[in-house]
Amino acid sequence: LASREAHPESSVIDVGGVKIGGGHIGMIAGPCSVEEEDRMHRIAEQVAKAGANIFRGGAYKPRTSPYAFQGLGEAGLKRLREVGDAHAMPVVTEVTDPRLVELVAEYADMLQVGARNMQNFALLNEVGASKRPVLLKRGMSATVTDLLMCAEYILSKGNPNVVLCERGVKGFDPATRNLFDVAAVPLVQQLSHLPIIVDPSHATGKPELIPACAMAGLAAGADGVHVEVHDCPEVAKSDGPQALLPEQYAELASQLKSLATLL
Ligand code: PEP
Ligand code: MN
Repeated sequence: LASREAHPESSVIDVGGVKIGGGHIGMIAGPCSVEEEDRMHRIAEQVAKAGANIFRGGAYKPRTSPYAFQGLGEAGLKRLREVGDAHAMPVVTEVTDPRLVELVAEYADMLQVGARNMQNFALLNEVGASKRPVLLKRGMSATVTDLLMCAEYILSKGNPNVVLCERGVKGFDPATRNLFDVAAVPLVQQLSHLPIIVDPSHATGKPELIPACAMAGLAAGADGVHVEVHDCPEVAKSDGPQALLPEQYAELASQLKSLATLL
């Protein structure tokens, strides 16, 4: 179902009124975690002004340590929804557990399946049974074929609305955190009709590497760019060190816009 052969025309996925694919660029931005209400409003206002069209924030966080901040849960979902509505942006948030899909789908326009859960087949089956579009992130050790097979799980359960995301794979050099596999973008587009976006934030883990990788992703044909933005990275509840400041995001968004006009 995911293959280009079966479906030659590129799919366009509607996320709460914002289209991704077939020439429509998804500009997803926001903090890693849903945080304090006033901060969320500030960040949303600034990224929307910069050109973001979908707001992100995690309410359920898959953390390496069980003692690290785990997210605000349902209170976070509610806050994300309110902030998205206030700034006229649909919202995407991660769902980490099949038992939470229904709840997350009540609040979010798009369900994110994170890299660590790409092959959580129970979760894929559950988001496949949902009507919400899904943002499926490539696992950090997953091949492109693995990624497409996971999309196939969702499609085969009856949900055709899947957007893929390249967010870097395990390399050997921690200096670039994950290897941003930009070639996966045109490869996925050759093999599949599904849109694919890039996430240079989780791919590189370094603010100074994000703009170049975002531009490279778009130049390679990506259908969108996902970037983490925080107005005070030092106090962020998660992924602070990789966050762009709102003004840095604004500069990047304007460069991406210029690049898009050339493509
Ligand atoms: C995230 O989007 O904050 C996240 C945890 O991403 P990934 O699953 O790609 O690591
Ligand atoms: Mn993050």
